[in-house]
Amino acid sequence: MLILHVSKLKIAHRFFSNGNTSFKELVDRLQIPHEYKENIVGKTVAFEITECDTKWPLLEEHLHQFDGFHSVGTVFSKKELDSAEWLMASVGEYQYPQPEDNHGRDSYDYSRACSVCATGHRQTKPIRLKSDFKQRRASFFGLHWIFDVVFTRPATMKLLERELGVTTFETMPVTSHKTGQNVQDLLQMVIPILEASCVIDDEMKVEQCASCQTTKRIRKERGMISISAPPSSSPPIFLTQEWFGSGSSAHRRIIVSAEFRKALNKNKLRGFQFTPLQVKN
Ligand SMILES: [Zn+2]
Repeated sequence: MLILHVSKLKIAHRFFSNGNTSFKELVDRLQIPHEYKENIVGKTVAFEITECDTKWPLLEEHLHQFDGFHSVGTVFSKKELDSAEWLMASVGEYQYPQPEDNHGRDSYDYSRACSVCATGHRQTKPIRLKSDFKQRRASFFGLHWIFDVVFTRPATMKLLERELGVTTFETMPVTSHKTGQNVQDLLQMVIPILEASCVIDDEMKVEQCASCQTTKRIRKERGMISISAPPSSSPPIFLTQEWFGSGSSAHRRIIVSAEFRKALNKNKLRGFQFTPLQVKN
């Protein structure tokens, strides 16, 4: 007898609701563990549940009544992460770029960007920050709004160069918005953009701009994103040629090699989160 072992995707749902009393009653009735807060923001309920949870089918029946924030994503196993040749990476979002009233756009050239979907912009000046990052345990730092910039310490860059051999990482300074001077002991990694497109997944949600017709990728809820094998000369960390985002948000995604992730793990360098990619040829 042939037994097929089909690994089931572990899908996680995150919920956040504010002021929806019937949803709070439902969650209480189903005894789903959640965080409940009553404060100036309102009466908020937040929790995460996977589709393997025995309570999921009961909750799923009532989802049509839910009007809050609901996101879906895949939880990958350590084995899937460890065996991936290439991974998509993101950094923790710890502060807002300055000046906040224009979303930090002073650091970018928008002359060739689409005014509707924002694709086509490029960074031409250092990012301006209110202050240095305060997360002492992290070695890499990111921003709200601008998802494809990564900051780090000079000592971390030296470590990475030692670990990854001949690779030379370029960096640029970071400007203190208050003083106009460089922020001490902080650098932005200059992450090269891959010259060719590599994200080939046709199951991803996409959005096409009505003005410039550029297609932006949004997300994939179930399973790994597929890419074509990056050229063998690719750096261990690069940005996709493709644009991601929705509405007036446009950014590239960060992709790293297995070696890059291993070097971080070996040296306990924290700050990145990874999702494995599937390489198809
Ligand atoms: Zn556009």
